[in-house]
Amino acid sequence: MIESSRVLVTGGAGFLGSHLCEKLLESGAEVLCVDNFFTGQRANINTMLDSKNFELLRHDITHPLFVECDEIYNLACPASPVHYQFDPVQTTKTSVLGAINVLGLAKRLRAKVLQASTSEVYGDPTVHPQPEGYWGNVNPIGSRACYDEGKRCAETLFFDYWRQHRSRIKVARIFNTYGPRMKLNDGRVVSNFIVQALRGEPLTLYGDGSQTRSFCYVDDLIDGLVRLMRTPDEVTGPINIGNPSEFTMRALAETVIDITGSPSEIVTKPLPEDDPKQRRPDISLAGETLGWQPTVPLREGLIRTIAYFDALLSKGSPELARP
Ligand code: NAD
Ligand code: UDP
Ligand code: UDP
Repeated sequence: MIESSRVLVTGGAGFLGSHLCEKLLESGAEVLCVDNFFTGQRANINTMLDSKNFELLRHDITHPLFVECDEIYNLACPASPVHYQFDPVQTTKTSVLGAINVLGLAKRLRAKVLQASTSEVYGDPTVHPQPEGYWGNVNPIGSRACYDEGKRCAETLFFDYWRQHRSRIKVARIFNTYGPRMKLNDGRVVSNFIVQALRGEPLTLYGDGSQTRSFCYVDDLIDGLVRLMRTPDEVTGPINIGNPSEFTMRALAETVIDITGSPSEIVTKPLPEDDPKQRRPDISLAGETLGWQPTVPLREGLIRTIAYFDALLSKGSPELARP
């Protein structure tokens, strides 16, 4: 990113998008945040609204968008299974039509465009850990497919615009990320466990809890995305960005209970369809290409995230309506 460049962030009022907008503003960029507020919230961007370099546009990226900018981060898409399965057709449209529109915009402007892809392109992986060369194991007709296949098709579009139009693309495959500004009713595991523990409610462990994930703290992730955008045009990705420290969901539940000192118990619930059994990024490419590696260990990141939710719950704000 060059000083005083104009940067478009789609999904900028969401969890990752709002942290990214903040980081870009700090670096001197002008930021245009585009969001339809499906899962985003005003509270995430409130502190930025006063900045002369920040602009907010309520818009659904499935429709064309004519603005001027130098760089585009395409983050618009619900990321939690609960929310992306709420209206699966809209989820696919957001990924596919949204990608076409940001790519058309980038083509007209010769702007750089970065796609927030996902480890879900690997599906329920049979190769472990997952390197970028692995093509994945996705059920194309299951309940996660609207997200997984939508994101896979978006990657296809990015690489076809690159081959066909020499578009200046960057594809980041983001692995599970957590931190402050996730919604109370986000539905993903870290926020669920923390909110349940702080409320003294049972922690809902899906399946037997032996499935694994590898969680990255939000600040590390944003640093990786910005580094990727700054690379020369020949660096297109896809590049995995995530924290390779892997643990079971049962261990995560126990760690949250331990840190919060909560009296909560763990209860088991049915495992959702096609829930990946294991996930861990191979981040050698990010190390070589971006000089990037995560720095915040799980326990430290959880302590910061728990402090955020604790403050939110004790404020008793209207957002506290239960899911
Ligand atoms: P989020 O749900 O908090 O943010 C998504 C944002 O996109 C929200 O503000 C939402 O209102 C907005 N949005 C959704 N559909 C839109 C549309 N049609 N038009 C305009 N705005 C729309 O999720 P997040 O965790 O911040 O994820 C951001 C991006 O990163 C997503 O593309 C997601 O797929 C990707 N990602 C996130 C993770 C993670 O662990 N957080 C992992 C892999 C990939
Ligand atoms: N598009 C957009 N903003 C722009 C330029 C294009 O939203 O500044 C949309 C455009 O409406 C089209 C899509 O991006 O639906 C793809 O554009 P492209 O030029 O690649 O294809 P075409 O317009 O030829 O279908
Ligand atoms: N999970 C869980 N309890 C919850 C929410 C999720 O045990 O309250 C599990 C879920 O089944 C999955 C893992 O935690 O195995 C991560 O789920 P999440 O929805 O956060 O992300 P994803 O499955 O998309 O990686």
